Amino acid sequence: MDPYIDNDLKDIEKAVSEFCRQELDQEYLHKFEEEHRYPKELYEKIGELGFIGVGFSEDVGGSGYGALGHVMAVKEMCRKLPGMGMALSLGYIPGFVLDIYGSDAQREKYVRPMVEGKYISAVSVTEPDSGSDIGSLKTKMEEKGDHFVVNGSKVFTTNAGYADFYTLLARDEEGLSTIVFDREVIESNGPKSFEVNDLGRKMGINTTTSGELVFSDFHIPKDNVVGQRGKGLRTVLDGFELGRIVIAAQAFGSMLYGYEKIVDYSKKRMQFGKPIIKFQSIEHDLVDMYVEIEKCRNLLYKAAWLYDRKDPESKQYSSMVKLAVPESAIRILNRSIDFLGGYGYMRDQGLEGALRDVRITSIYEGTSKIQKNVIARMLY
Ligand SMILES: Cc1cc2nc3c(=O)[nH]c(=O)nc-3n(C[C@H](O)[C@H](O)[C@H](O)COP(=O)(O)OP(=O)(O)OC[C@H]3O[C@@H](n4cnc5c(N)ncnc54)[C@H](O)[C@@H]3O)c2cc1C
Repeated sequence: MDPYIDNDLKDIEKAVSEFCRQELDQEYLHKFEEEHRYPKELYEKIGELGFIGVGFSEDVGGSGYGALGHVMAVKEMCRKLPGMGMALSLGYIPGFVLDIYGSDAQREKYVRPMVEGKYISAVSVTEPDSGSDIGSLKTKMEEKGDHFVVNGSKVFTTNAGYADFYTLLARDEEGLSTIVFDREVIESNGPKSFEVNDLGRKMGINTTTSGELVFSDFHIPKDNVVGQRGKGLRTVLDGFELGRIVIAAQAFGSMLYGYEKIVDYSKKRMQFGKPIIKFQSIEHDLVDMYVEIEKCRNLLYKAAWLYDRKDPESKQYSSMVKLAVPESAIRILNRSIDFLGGYGYMRDQGLEGALRDVRITSIYEGTSKIQKNVIARMLY
C-alpha cells in the first residue's frame, strides 16, 4: 500500500514497464554509447506512447499526472536500463523551465512537440566560470530593436548539437533573463554566430552530448523571452525544483536496477554448496539496501506529491530528494558490483555502466553540497 500512488499511476507504471521490457536492451544501449549518438527513435516512441506526456498538462498534449506521473515513468525506464532511461528523460527534463514559464504560444510551439517526442530540449545555464554560482554568469544579451544580441559561452549543455530548442539564461539590462531559441533562429544567424563544441566522452550517459555553446553576435527575437525580464534566475530555479525531483527518480530507478539484479543473482550463484543469499552477511546487506530503497521511495513520492499540490515545503523536499536519492543510488550500485564478484566488474553485466551513469545525478542541477545549502537556508 502506497499512500501517494493511485490506480492510474499504477497503470502508468505497468505500461512503461511493459514497454521497457520489450524495447530497452543493453546491446542497443552499448551501440549508441559507442557511436556517442542519442537514441532519437526510442525517444520518438516514448513520445507517441504518451510516456513523455504523463506529467505534462493536457493543454500541451500531456495526461496531467504532474510530478508523480513523471516520477513513475522515469523510475520505470531507469529501473530497466539506467543509461537509456536517463538519456530518454534528459530529452525533456530541460524543457521544464519553458513549460512552467513559457507563454501559451511558446508552450504550443516548443513544449507540445516535445511532449509528442518530436522535439528534444536543452537548457543552457552553466558557464566556464559560473557553475554552482549561477548568479555570476557573464553571457550577455543586449537589446537592439526587435532582437537581443547574445555574446558569451556556456558549457555542459546536455543535448547540445541536436536539441530542437534551447532555453538560455543570460544577463541583460534588467538582470538575468531567460530566452528560448530553436533551429530556425540558429539558421537565420549563420554559422559564425553559433558554435557547438562537443565536450567528448564522459564517465557515463554517453548517448547524450555535453556541449559548449559559443555565441558571437547571435540574434534572438525579443518575443522569445521566457517569463518576466530580469527574473530569469527565479524562472530557472523553479524549473529545477521539478527537475531535481525527476533526477532523483532517475537515481531511484537505477538503484532498483542494481538491487533487483543482485537479489536474483544471489539466489542463483552457488558457492560452498549453497546459494550465496544463504550467507547471513549477504542477506543482511540486502536487507540494509531494501530499507534504504524504501526510505528513498517514500521521500521521492512525498516530494512529488508536495510539488503537485504546490505545497510551500516542496522546495525543501525537492532539494532533500536530490541530495538523498542520488547518494543512496551511488552507494547501492557501487556495493552491488561486489555481489557479483568478478562478474560485477564486467561490462556485459551492466552494473559498472549503471554506476558510471548514475554518478552524475549527485552533480547536475545542483551538487549535493548545493542541495545542503538550500535545505539549511530553509531550516535554520
Ligand atoms: C553530464 C553533465 C550534464 C550537465 N547538463 C547541464 C545542462 O544541461 N545545462 C546546464 O546549464 N548545466 C549542465 N551541467 C552543469 C552542472 O549543472 C554543473 O556542473 C554543476 O551545477 C556544478 O557546477 P560546476 O561544475 O561549475 O562546479 P562548481 O560550482 O565549480 O563546484 C565545484 C565544487 O565546489 C562545491 N561548491 C561550490 N559552491 C559551493 C558552496 N556554496 N558551498 C559548498 N560547496 C560548494 C561543489 O559542490 C563542487 O563540489 C551538466 C554537467 C554535467 C557533468
